[in-house]
Amino acid sequence: MKANLAEIMESIQGEGLLVGSRQVFLRFTGCNLRCAYCDTPGSFEPLPYCQVAKVTGRGDLWEQVPNPFSVEQIREHLKNYSSQWISLTGGEPLLWADFIREMGEKLKPQGYKLMLETNGTLYEQLGECLPYIDLISMDYKLPSATGVNCGAEHAQFLTVAANKAVYIKIVIDSKVEREEIEEALGIITAVNPNILLILQPVTPIKAAYSLSIEKLLDLQKMCQEKIADVRIIPQIHKMMGLI
Ligand code: SF4
Repeated sequence: MKANLAEIMESIQGEGLLVGSRQVFLRFTGCNLRCAYCDTPGSFEPLPYCQVAKVTGRGDLWEQVPNPFSVEQIREHLKNYSSQWISLTGGEPLLWADFIREMGEKLKPQGYKLMLETNGTLYEQLGECLPYIDLISMDYKLPSATGVNCGAEHAQFLTVAANKAVYIKIVIDSKVEREEIEEALGIITAVNPNILLILQPVTPIKAAYSLSIEKLLDLQKMCQEKIADVRIIPQIHKMMGLI
């Protein structure tokens, strides 16, 4: 089994619960959504080459390595790095659920831990590789970002993930409506009212603009009426100029 990858690199996790921790990032190609704020549109389609940064923090030292990759090839690249955490990101990594399952079977006995960064819609694929995932970072995608309502898929996804370590991240930009946050809170709390919710102010890109801090704090207050632990965390790797 082989997978088409856009990037392999080591950096610090710039988002969410494990922000600041050193991780290897495997960026898979392909995605079933098209978010307005997407910062990885170059990975929507299969690529002939994967960019591999063998030196941590040196994005100017990319090497072009031909796709696709087997798990054994990835294991060889992992020897360049010191991290035990592997972030499965994209694109949407669950489009490669069979490959992720094989990664879990072969890499977890060596002490690697898998963090899944997902758009939270492909719940059947999540079930296929769930036993091998150590932490799920699930994006809740708002209709104002995607143009579609993913609420039903998110509810199914949270149900499948119920017994795993999981937190939710919502990217907040200037188009976000209070009503869609209210709907999201209803869907989330119906499945897991004790979940950690992270509001991530968008890093401005193309047509996505950030909210004022006052509006962000107002949204946090609104969310805290339904969920106890609601944190505002921006993308710190972009603030630091890291890849
Ligand atoms: S789910 Fe992620 S990779 Fe897919 S379009 Fe949205 S931001 Fe981009």
